[in-house]
Amino acid sequence: MPTDERLYSYCAELMGSPILLKLYSHDEALASRIFQLIKRYEDLLTVNRAQSQVMSINHAAGQHPVTVSLPVYALIKCAKAASMAQDSAFNLAIGPLVKLWRIGFQGHRVPSAAEIAERLPLTRPQDVILDDEACSVFLAQAGMEIDLGAIAKGYIADRVRDSLRQQGVSDALINLGGNVHTLGNWSVGLKKPFAPGDALIGSIEVASQSVVTSGVYERYFEQDGKRWHHILDPRSGYPLDNELDSVTIISANSLDGDIWTTLIYGLGVVKGCAALRHHEDIEAIFVTKNRDVILSSQRNFRFSLLDDSYRLTG
Ligand code: FAD
Ligand code: MG
Ligand code: MG
Repeated sequence: MPTDERLYSYCAELMGSPILLKLYSHDEALASRIFQLIKRYEDLLTVNRAQSQVMSINHAAGQHPVTVSLPVYALIKCAKAASMAQDSAFNLAIGPLVKLWRIGFQGHRVPSAAEIAERLPLTRPQDVILDDEACSVFLAQAGMEIDLGAIAKGYIADRVRDSLRQQGVSDALINLGGNVHTLGNWSVGLKKPFAPGDALIGSIEVASQSVVTSGVYERYFEQDGKRWHHILDPRSGYPLDNELDSVTIISANSLDGDIWTTLIYGLGVVKGCAALRHHEDIEAIFVTKNRDVILSSQRNFRFSLLDDSYRLTG
């Protein structure tokens, strides 16, 4: 448990996010190896620098396929499958819209309807052409851009979990800024949307599970009396507008959690709960703007409400 005096915390700043590793041993070398691992994946997957394997694919859009390393290929293949699912709000080809809005970055702004309409045809996931044999990715139209911002932290959190296990660690927590993964028993805080500091709505007790939260309070800006947050609706090109302030997914793998937070944002509470009935091991905690906390089920975690301005239902 986090208050234990034998607990050691290690911090880094990677992927534009604070990274926190908690261990039950004082082991700087292990922490450093884990941060190096995260950095290697960041270098492969980032779209926030001129060079990476994903940027090589984006630079060659409309021109030629690019052969990438197996992990990058596998992640893109998984992201494409999630994007092609029926009614999916997840879209790996959302890059041109992310770059247009720049939410969470310098120069963010509300684009004109014409600018959005111009970019929407460049976000078709079926135009991400994969070749399993060549391990290559081709973006069929010039101007297309892959953005793995909604899935890469989940993938990397799973690799950190694997690496810790391989090194004989059985109790650890990694927080990649929204993506928490655990080995052993942990209590993970559910953040209170828009509240300053570390205010919590509740705590989530898990054992060797991933806890991924996506919220409208994480990256947003205000303009014209409205909040514009960073989870975009691939159909309209505007931020998804629904009753949710945040959604948290508890699952064995953080990759699933990261995909499902975006899917749930697109579905909302009622359809989201219905969809999760077909996925026993994926569970959600919805936090609505009306201050309802709704649990889709409670098989692999225990939730305690800590803030009585919220109502626990479901
Ligand atoms: P999630 O809800 O999981 O994902 C939201 C993000 O996914 C958006 O920010 C956007 O990038 C993308 N997205 C939006 N709508 C959709 C959609 N419908 N379908 C699919 N994807 C969508 N941040 C910095 O400030 N500076 C950096 O240098 C930086 N480098 C990064 C490098 C890597 C490898 C990664 C993975 C992230 C990096 N980030 C950086 C953070 C990144 O820009 C996103 O803000 C972050 O990944 C959002 O994750 P989340 O879990 O908060 O939100
Ligand atoms: Mg995420
Ligand atoms: Mg996500």
